Amino acid sequence: AQLDTLDIVVLAALLVGTVAYFTKGTYWAVAKDPYAGSLANGAAAKAGKTRDIIEKMEESSKNCVIFYGSQTGTAEDYASRLAKEGSSRFGLKTMTADLEEYDFENLDSFPEDKVAMFVLATYGEGEPTDNAVEFYEFISSEDISFNQGGGISEKPLANLKYVAFGLGNNTYEHYNSMVRNVTKSLDRLGATRIGAAGEGDDGAGTMEEDFLAWKEPMWKDLADAMGLQEREAVYEPVLEVSEKPDMDAESDDVYLGEPNKNHLEGKQKGPFNAHNPYIAPIVESKELFTVKDRNCLHMEIDISGSNLSYTTGDHIAVWPTNAGKEVDRFMNILGLGDKRHMVITVKGLDATAKIPFPSPTTYDAVVRYHMEICAPVSRQFVSALAPFSPNDSIKAEMTKMGSDREYFHDQVAARNYNLAQLLEFLSQGQTWDQVPFSIFIEGLHKIQPRYYSISSSSLVQKNKISITAVVESVETPGASNVLKGVTTNYLLALKQKQHGDPTPDPHGLNYAITGPRNKYDGIHVPVHVRHSNFKLPSDPSKPIIMVGPGTGVAPFRGFVQERAKQARDGETVGKTMLFFGCRKKAEDFIYADEWDAYKNDMGDSFEMLTAFSRDGAQKVYVQHLLKQRAAEIDRLLQQKAYFYVCGDAANMAREVNTVLAQIIAEQRGIPESKAEDIVKAMRNSNAYQEDVW
Ligand code: FAD
Repeated sequence: AQLDTLDIVVLAALLVGTVAYFTKGTYWAVAKDPYAGSLANGAAAKAGKTRDIIEKMEESSKNCVIFYGSQTGTAEDYASRLAKEGSSRFGLKTMTADLEEYDFENLDSFPEDKVAMFVLATYGEGEPTDNAVEFYEFISSEDISFNQGGGISEKPLANLKYVAFGLGNNTYEHYNSMVRNVTKSLDRLGATRIGAAGEGDDGAGTMEEDFLAWKEPMWKDLADAMGLQEREAVYEPVLEVSEKPDMDAESDDVYLGEPNKNHLEGKQKGPFNAHNPYIAPIVESKELFTVKDRNCLHMEIDISGSNLSYTTGDHIAVWPTNAGKEVDRFMNILGLGDKRHMVITVKGLDATAKIPFPSPTTYDAVVRYHMEICAPVSRQFVSALAPFSPNDSIKAEMTKMGSDREYFHDQVAARNYNLAQLLEFLSQGQTWDQVPFSIFIEGLHKIQPRYYSISSSSLVQKNKISITAVVESVETPGASNVLKGVTTNYLLALKQKQHGDPTPDPHGLNYAITGPRNKYDGIHVPVHVRHSNFKLPSDPSKPIIMVGPGTGVAPFRGFVQERAKQARDGETVGKTMLFFGCRKKAEDFIYADEWDAYKNDMGDSFEMLTAFSRDGAQKVYVQHLLKQRAAEIDRLLQQKAYFYVCGDAANMAREVNTVLAQIIAEQRGIPESKAEDIVKAMRNSNAYQEDVW
């Protein structure tokens, strides 16, 4: 297919995004502007850093490297855990490595007495994560050639021993395709896999347990293959945390939550990206609906002057702050309450250690801004903490939880505990003051920005980004604890502040919304923009069909805004069908008052179809509406309509895919399997696009 202008814009945006991504990891360490420059400045030419993994391993005396292909940090996290475990249980000399920081042409001289592990997430529709793109292209290439000249037929990787684990989601068609394809390539090149290649399934919610179940037999096989002796695991810190009682937390060089040096120095300096957020003003906020414990927020974020830009269909990332209530709980249960503002420095004890935030800093800043303290607890981490329990009976309980999957599920997971809640529950409030703080920095996930599908059109409001977000509040029957989403409750607090509440405090969560050193004061939130492939056809006369129940309607508000504007400007706008669903018309029908205005602009070319699941005797969902309009949908598809789905990945998006295939089969009188192939072909040609989470 030919590239049209929009494709080129999208590709260019993707390239910019990729370039931006390549600066990953360099920014804490580099003193001058770490963002300036290009590819060469990013991955390729880090001052003094080798891209030769074998050299790196030799010079740091390592015999096990764990490569990760990670998008949201989970694969990176698993890689670190394997590194720690390999070292503490088997005495391996381990290091983790970001795939984009190394070259692979010399894998054919990988020493026989070393092992490489690959922890690979599959992203979106079976794609590699941004940092694994180059590796993936290299290893899958048909005409691959290594330094010593070996190609596919010569088994050039005969010396390479490797281990592999994949992170995937079975709701996507190309489940775990990264690990599957990479192992296929490695095997074809003659490498020797140790143990089975593991596959974790986020779709079934079993990622953590899949990982735990995979790694035990893997360690056994690896120990056999490398002649390793298992020993009793002792915690060996990778990072050293030192308290600096002589330093003042308020002094200019202490990071109180500022993400990098520019922010510390009070200069907001672009480019703003996944490593450097823009502290953006929220210029407008409101609740689209509020029912009992469910709120839906609409916010307008001003990006003028930041050099940030977006196109309709992109995502905005919001950098969260942990709730004060949970920060306090964490501090207090560890006995750090009184010294939360103590200045600390964090150093790697090994040249390959990665420090996830800038230092010097304080305990409070680390817990509030850098660690995912509210997330579900990992069973393996419970085992790691057990030796530091306040007494032997708690230690026995922790050990049991760590080793018994079902017991852990009943006691911890089913109650939605976060780590501090679990520790509080187990010790009845007695402090856990024996736990080294480094174990949390090493073992907890780095806090992750949350993505939102931008719900405005860049054609209509170039410098203002709309967000549509449901505030997360999960009450599980039987669990004493109501789970409050980190980011969405933070946004709710910001909304309350904007509406005059001087001390906004949703559910007693108490967010530090003015940010480090009041830098977010005046209702600001740190953000960056992620460019996506979820795009309108560049020709507005093409018909489109959109399916977006609940907050899934977010990007479609942007799509419809854009087409309404094009219609106002006299352009021919093709049929624009929007399928929307929610519980009750009078309760959670978001933007109900806006759709009519768009209809005025677009006339009959816009049609909104609504399903209210709790208004009538029968539950009606968007899937039912699609079936009701089968003939028209098929007619539009024959006219090359674009079909879009946004919202719930686990159920809705899958069912819509199935229903569409049924519609095509019925309308065209062909077998369903053939219709499924047609839907697949639509996906491959971008005529079927998903934005799901
Ligand atoms: P979190 O704190 O991240 O919690 C989220 C969920 O994690 C909880 O509901 C729970 O299921 C689980 N969880 C968290 N802690 C625990 C625990 N201790 N124990 C057990 N389970 C736990 N959302 C929107 O509302 N609108 C959008 O337009 C939108 N667009 C998106 C686009 C993309 C590409 C993606 C990836 C996501 C999108 N989302 C959107 C979802 C959004 O990014 C967030 O995931 C969502 O707002 C929740 O964030 P949170 O920080 O409030 O909740």
